[in-house]
Amino acid sequence: RPRALSGIQPTAGSFHLGNYLGAIRQYTALQESHDAFYMVVDLHAITVPQDPAVLRANTRLAAAQLLAAGLDPQRCTLFVQSHVPEHAQLGWVMNCITGFGEASRMTQFKDKSAKQGADRTTVGLFTYPVLQVADILLYQADSVPVGEDQRQHVELTRDLAERFNGRFGHTFTVPSPHIVKETAKIYDLQDPSIKMSKSASTTKGLINLLDEPKATAKKVKSAVTDTGSEIVFDAENKPGVSNLLTIFSTLTGTTIGDLEARYTGKGYGALKTDLADVMVDFVTPFRDRTQEFLEDPETLDALLATGAEKARAVAAETLATAYDRIGFLPAK
Ligand code: ATP
Ligand code: MG
Repeated sequence: RPRALSGIQPTAGSFHLGNYLGAIRQYTALQESHDAFYMVVDLHAITVPQDPAVLRANTRLAAAQLLAAGLDPQRCTLFVQSHVPEHAQLGWVMNCITGFGEASRMTQFKDKSAKQGADRTTVGLFTYPVLQVADILLYQADSVPVGEDQRQHVELTRDLAERFNGRFGHTFTVPSPHIVKETAKIYDLQDPSIKMSKSASTTKGLINLLDEPKATAKKVKSAVTDTGSEIVFDAENKPGVSNLLTIFSTLTGTTIGDLEARYTGKGYGALKTDLADVMVDFVTPFRDRTQEFLEDPETLDALLATGAEKARAVAAETLATAYDRIGFLPAK
C-alpha cells in the first residue's frame, strides 16, 4: 500500500470547516487505500505562543475531533508529533540542507510574520516548513493530503528529498500533494476573497465545527453573497455564492449542477436557509462524537500512545538511514 501522511495543528481548539473539507475528509478517504499516518502537530503549534494547559487540552481535543470525523485507529496511525522525537531530529538535518533564501520564499511565513511583526516572529515559525519536510519524509509518504495553502510546503519537501537523495544516495520517497481541487480552498463566509482560517478569519466568517449549531446556522444565514440574484457557480464573479455551493455540494454529495437546477428562480435566502440546515445536521453529531471521545481521556491517551509507538517504528528506521548516509558515527 502507498503511504499517506498529514498533520493538523491543535492551536484553536475547534477545527473549522476549511480544515474538514480541505484536509480531514481526505484523511478519512485515504485511510482506506493507503498506509496512512495522521498527527496532531504540537511542535508546529509552539511556533506562536501557547498557554501550556490550553495546548495540552487542545491536543487531546484535536485527536478527539479527528476520531469524530471518522479516523479509525484500526485503519490508520493517529499520533501526537512530540511523542515521536525523530521529527525534531530529522528537522534539524533538513534545516542544514535548506537555503536561507529558499526558506525566505515561503509565502505562509511571509504572511504570518508580516501580521505578527518582526519582533514577535520566532525562528521556529521561519523553519516550520522545514520541520514539515521532516514530518513527511520520515514516513516515506507518497501522498500528502492538504489544502491549497500547503502546496508550496509539499513542493519544498520534494525539492529537499531530491537534494538529499542526490547528495547522499536514495533515502527518501519523493511525495506528491493530494489536493482535491473543489475543496482545496474554502473561503471566509464574510470575505470570500480570503481563505477560511483559524488565524485570519473574523469569527463571523469562520465556521468552527464545535460551535453551538444554532450559532453556526446563523453564520451561514448571514454569509456574504454577491450582487445579482442568480444561484450559479462562478468563482470569479460570484465568489460568495460559489463558496456556499461548494460547501453544500460536498456535505451532501449533490453535484453543483443539481444544486444550480434546484435553486433556479429562487433567491440567495433559500440557499442559505437550506445550507444552514445541512450544516446543523453535519456539526451536531460531530460535536456529540467529539464529546464522547473527550469523556474518556484514558482511552484516548492509550490510543495515542499506541499510535506513537507504531509511528516511531517507521520514523526511527528512516532517521537511522539518514544519519548513516550523512556520515554520523554510529552510537554503538
Ligand atoms: P492557520 O491559519 O493557523 O495556519 P489553518 O486554519 O490553516 O490555521 P492548519 O492546522 O494550518 O489550519 O491546517 C490544517 C489543514 O487544513 C491543512 O492541510 C490546510 O491546508 C487545511 N486548510 C486550512 N484552511 C483551509 C481552507 N480554508 N480550505 C481548505 N483547506 C484548508
Ligand atoms: Mg495553516
